Amino acid sequence: MKRTHNCGELRKNDENKNVTLSGWVHKYRNLGGLLFFDLRDRYGITQVIFDPAKVSQDIIELASKCRNEFVVSIDGVVKVKPDANRNLATGEIEIDANNIKIENESITPPFNFLKGRSDAKEELRLEYRYLDLRSEVMTRNLILRHKVTMATRNFLSEKGFLEIETPTFTKSTPEGARDYLVPARLFPGSFYALPQSPQIFKQLLMVSGMDKYFQIARCYRDEDARGDRQPEFTQIDIEASFVDENYIFSLTEGLMHQIFSESMGIEIPVPFERIPYSVSMEEYGVDKPDLRFGLKLKNITDITRNSEFGVFKNAECVKFIAVEGKEDLSRKQIGKYEDYAKHLGAKGLAFVKLVDGKFEAGIEKFLTDDDKRTIIELAEVNGNAMIFFGADRTSTVNKVLGGLRNRFGNELGLTDPKDFKFCWVTDFPMFEYNEEADRWDAMHHMFTMPKEEDIDKIENDPGNVLSKSYDLVLNGVELASGSVRIHDRDIQEKIFKRLDLTNEEIEDKFGFMLKAFKYGAPPHAGIAPGLDRLLQVMTGEETIREVIAFPKAKSLNCPLTKAPSEVSQDQLDELNISVKKK
Ligand code: ASP
Repeated sequence: MKRTHNCGELRKNDENKNVTLSGWVHKYRNLGGLLFFDLRDRYGITQVIFDPAKVSQDIIELASKCRNEFVVSIDGVVKVKPDANRNLATGEIEIDANNIKIENESITPPFNFLKGRSDAKEELRLEYRYLDLRSEVMTRNLILRHKVTMATRNFLSEKGFLEIETPTFTKSTPEGARDYLVPARLFPGSFYALPQSPQIFKQLLMVSGMDKYFQIARCYRDEDARGDRQPEFTQIDIEASFVDENYIFSLTEGLMHQIFSESMGIEIPVPFERIPYSVSMEEYGVDKPDLRFGLKLKNITDITRNSEFGVFKNAECVKFIAVEGKEDLSRKQIGKYEDYAKHLGAKGLAFVKLVDGKFEAGIEKFLTDDDKRTIIELAEVNGNAMIFFGADRTSTVNKVLGGLRNRFGNELGLTDPKDFKFCWVTDFPMFEYNEEADRWDAMHHMFTMPKEEDIDKIENDPGNVLSKSYDLVLNGVELASGSVRIHDRDIQEKIFKRLDLTNEEIEDKFGFMLKAFKYGAPPHAGIAPGLDRLLQVMTGEETIREVIAFPKAKSLNCPLTKAPSEVSQDQLDELNISVKKK
């Protein structure tokens, strides 16, 4: 039996066609001798009936043997159902079967996915990922991933970009994470590093004159199992020559527009709003603002300098956030937010209620009439509100109120996952101070071009050097980073020096790149949107694991293959490696 159609395509106008379908038995029922199968494949589900009045007893017996997830092929005739099943795309028809072949049996799966997605524990889903991927939702996610990848390839190819692969076995790259190392058998004691990104190679391709490059690139970063991370993830890696940041902005906007339009039928408005980093931190407390809702942070440091209230008077920064409609929070509920603020580094969480134009409770008695007037003016609320204050170092205030803002956005139902709000965050500082190591680190990476007017400050005032780097943010998620690159050796050396790299380190790590830059490096710029993150936001999934076919578990192991695993002594000997057992 060779299938003539898939399980998602037959409709009313196929009535009376003789067809052969193949797939998995999704559900089966025996209603008084009449056998009903829901036959499933990647494309959908079709109902099949075996009627003992029409087919031989042998066939009925064979069909009765089928259980969930058996693989079968059936021959039959398309019939229009008197009572259409509105839940199925094929719900207007059913197949009146006249033959069946059991292609393969299945033992009982460890969980079911009849409701579109398995509700089993993630560990189990990942152990049996091949079954988990049979579910409607996971299949849909992988189809969307394919569409997004194809839209990307088509868009960039049309714009003249060449898809070029770069090595997976290479030397350390500068994205700031730990490298995964691969022992080199032929060079005992030496290691390849898996690339944290193709950064250096894409810049070398610009030196080669490739002009416009892209790659759906796998990146490897050995980070702790915190949050929603994967040791390997995929980037849409892009680089172009003789362009500035505006080119990268409009290229990426066009790409995002095409991705959403082709894969979801959604027309994303372009261009995206551009928000300087300093404004983002001031108004949203974070460098990846969620623009689906307002709730902006309001700065009152100027007025609180003269406050009678010691906590305000002495603080480097005082800001508040006014949450409309939350004025009736109980003491206990407020305590919950206070705990959260403390978890983010605050010493406490001052609040006041605004009810019918009057302030009540909390720190009301410490506020002067002037303070109150200013707060009402800035708060921009129409009715009653709960006002939370942050008074501390600027970075702590931002972290705490930025966190609360996002939390209220969620709790107030202001974060519709179907609402897609992009923005650019621009003008990042070039360096950030690493207190632990007592040195300056590159905020993006060390090949990022500083703003021309700040080049003089690199040596003595690094905290005030801005860079030509940018992030693309979608619904509060950082989707991409990129920058205009340094193509001038002198500036590059200044940056290396500021990062306290010794000449030996520079030579060892980047000597080959600096050498290449002696042979005519064009001005260039690039960006790298994260494909997994993008898909996570598009699908509204909670983790990136839901949009990756075979991800690692949260603890970064693989329940399916049991990787990472020990290897044999012979393998270690061949690699000249001895392992210290813990
Ligand atoms: N290589 C950078 C990253 O992975 C992106 C870029 O600058 O293009 O974040």
